[in-house]
Amino acid sequence: MRRCLTANLQGPMINEAQSLVIDWTLGFGNGDLPMTPLRFRPLLKRIRWGGTRLGSVLGKPIGSESDYAESWELCDHGSDQSVVDGGLWNGLTLRQLMGQHVRELCGTERRLRQFPLLVKFLDASDRLSVQVHPNDVQARFFNPHENGKTEAWVILDARPDSRLYAGLKRGVDAFRLQQHLSAGTVEECLHSYPVRAGDCIFIPAGTVHAIGEGILLAEVQQSSDLTFRLHDWDRLGADGQPRPLHIEESLACIDFDRGPVDPVVPRRLNLVSEELVASEFFTLHRHTLRDSWHAASDGRFHALLVLGGCGNLTCDDTEHSLQTGSTLLLPATCPPVIVEPRGELILLEVFLHPAGVRQPRLKRELTCFSRWS
Ligand SMILES: [Zn+2]
Repeated sequence: MRRCLTANLQGPMINEAQSLVIDWTLGFGNGDLPMTPLRFRPLLKRIRWGGTRLGSVLGKPIGSESDYAESWELCDHGSDQSVVDGGLWNGLTLRQLMGQHVRELCGTERRLRQFPLLVKFLDASDRLSVQVHPNDVQARFFNPHENGKTEAWVILDARPDSRLYAGLKRGVDAFRLQQHLSAGTVEECLHSYPVRAGDCIFIPAGTVHAIGEGILLAEVQQSSDLTFRLHDWDRLGADGQPRPLHIEESLACIDFDRGPVDPVVPRRLNLVSEELVASEFFTLHRHTLRDSWHAASDGRFHALLVLGGCGNLTCDDTEHSLQTGSTLLLPATCPPVIVEPRGELILLEVFLHPAGVRQPRLKRELTCFSRWS
């Protein structure tokens, strides 16, 4: 089947380099069912630094407690599985979709065995620990089934005094960091700054970081749950004991060449769209819409998160409501969609690197590995 699309296609899913004539047979085989937008039930995580904004701002079904920390929107990680909410695939987990419908869901990335991204909203009413995540090579040393964790944050809300910690100050090496860890003064080593709604920060694996109190954000990361805690601000855990630290593992994984990490400078794509991140692990585009927005498949999946405002997304005559906090996954075989904002609607679009394959940074990974082993 070959379909010609000549409508007003201005979405980033069709970029300048691609023709408006899309060969739909490129990524799909005969008999692949067009798969319409998928909505999943949020997986809510309660952690003591959480709050209530996942419910009050993002409309998640929280209970009466005040420690709702994370809403996992798209997740295929061990027993943590997003489950489709409604429609033809109702009740299937993301893992089951990857097993039974990977061609329809992932198109040109059909070789994937695990959905590669973990997408969350996170509400930090208290600050998180100072931590670092391993890269892919390091992660597999600890757990052969795990991935590294490169992540990115887009701030939705922050108090005037909210700060992020991202990267080490210039000149901080392993020896100096260890000195400050022993002296309890590690904060002096961290690059830190106030943030506000709209800021985006890209945190490659190996970057020391902490999310400060008062921040509500969307997080996109590799599918991984490997975190090494370097410092916990001298606090006690829920059981009254200090939470365990992983100093040795952290020091092995920190990229001491990284230095300070500032918010990204968005790259303007057109009147409504900006590129926030283009990495080997994922790409993030932000669309600030006041008029209808059309997009058609490019043979890959695209996730849409509503960062602000409301509206509707229509696909094959079916309407999907969009509110702040909504997440939709548009499969690779998704028919064209039209988004109609009511007022201003801010969408975060998440997709994989156009090559569909990560470019391994072998030299860097081997360097880290040998330092640590
Ligand atoms: Zn992290």
